[in-house]
Amino acid sequence: MHKLILPHGSGELRPLLLEGEALQEELRKATGLKHVPMTSRETSDLIMMGIGAFTPLEGFMARDDWQGCCESYRMPSQNGLFWPIPITLSAEEDYAKSIAPGDEVALWDTETDAVMGTMKVTEKYAIDKEYECKQVFHTTDPAHPGVEKVMEQGAVNLAGPVKVLSESYYPEMFKGIYQRPAEAREAFAARGWTTVAALQLRNPMHNSHAYLAWIAIEVCDGVYIHQLVGKLKPGDIPAEVRVKAIDALVNKYFRKDRVIQGGYPMEMRYAGPREALLHAVFRQNYGCTHLIVGRDHAGVGDYYGPFDAQKIFNEIPPGALLLHPLCMDWTFYCYECGSMASMKTCPHESKAVIDENGKYKGGARLLLSGTLLRKLMSEGKPVPAEFSKPEVIAVLKEYYDTLEEKVEVKLHGAATGIQK
Ligand SMILES: [Zn+2]
Repeated sequence: MHKLILPHGSGELRPLLLEGEALQEELRKATGLKHVPMTSRETSDLIMMGIGAFTPLEGFMARDDWQGCCESYRMPSQNGLFWPIPITLSAEEDYAKSIAPGDEVALWDTETDAVMGTMKVTEKYAIDKEYECKQVFHTTDPAHPGVEKVMEQGAVNLAGPVKVLSESYYPEMFKGIYQRPAEAREAFAARGWTTVAALQLRNPMHNSHAYLAWIAIEVCDGVYIHQLVGKLKPGDIPAEVRVKAIDALVNKYFRKDRVIQGGYPMEMRYAGPREALLHAVFRQNYGCTHLIVGRDHAGVGDYYGPFDAQKIFNEIPPGALLLHPLCMDWTFYCYECGSMASMKTCPHESKAVIDENGKYKGGARLLLSGTLLRKLMSEGKPVPAEFSKPEVIAVLKEYYDTLEEKVEVKLHGAATGIQK
């Protein structure tokens, strides 16, 4: 009997998704309830609760838990259990006036015009949005995509336990990749894995990701390549293209008994270190014992230090998580080493110079930033072979060729390694 890591804070997963007759009955009831519109972030959080990825949450957070999460990663309602980012539902002030504690409401996804769940409202409260942003994102800059969403949300938060009625389009649209935590756990157990490292991906998998995955396989039973299939920001590559590119890589360069690919429906908040912690919580629920945390995990722009997302694991209360971070240094291809390497292993400090035709001109380290890769591809420039396997480049090229409008990809300071 193989033993997998326990879900967060409890002995078992707590999926809030209804099934069978209970689902039909709740759907019928929901048609007669007031419909509370949700943002795409709120919808994706609701689905995460539905599938048990946010175990042991029972619904959208009340004020005490919101405050506890922001302040000290703690949920008072769950005996102070660790939770790194508030999971809340907002409503416009005027609209919220028509809802009273004790009411049951339907949770409505405006984007797909579908009722996604129901909630018994237990509390209405206003929050200090700037405070939340400062705590969670470490900035209140409205140009930060996560901050922007919080600042735009309604003025009142509605809290209460939820029943989830739908997983939206995810199971259909991402067939074969979309996975519930219970399904991932079954797949791990079927292979006899007990130690599993999750590799978080929201960009195409290039050589430095592959390198991290191979290292993880050396120290764990297997690697779970876990892709975000929820919403990203403009300019990011759609999930179906990323899945195809990962398939191309995994099929040729990985042992099939050491890797499983899965997708999860959460929307990125780009909260850097705090989001790395949320990634850790739900990866534990998926059955992973480790989370690979590389450079600038879940970051955006220059808001976070490159290794802030690793350091934060030392700052949280001891025992907060059963899962451990697998902290990896900045990886790159080194022309002197003649292989993939990291800041920890490679003694050659010079940067490799690549001309605008993707040709190597000298120097050692070629930094394989996903952002840089996207920039080259979106501008139709050749990509050095050391960046990514040809099978991956072929999939990406096919995608970029179909784009009518080229998306401008901004490079953040640290990601440059290419000289024009
Ligand atoms: Zn080197």
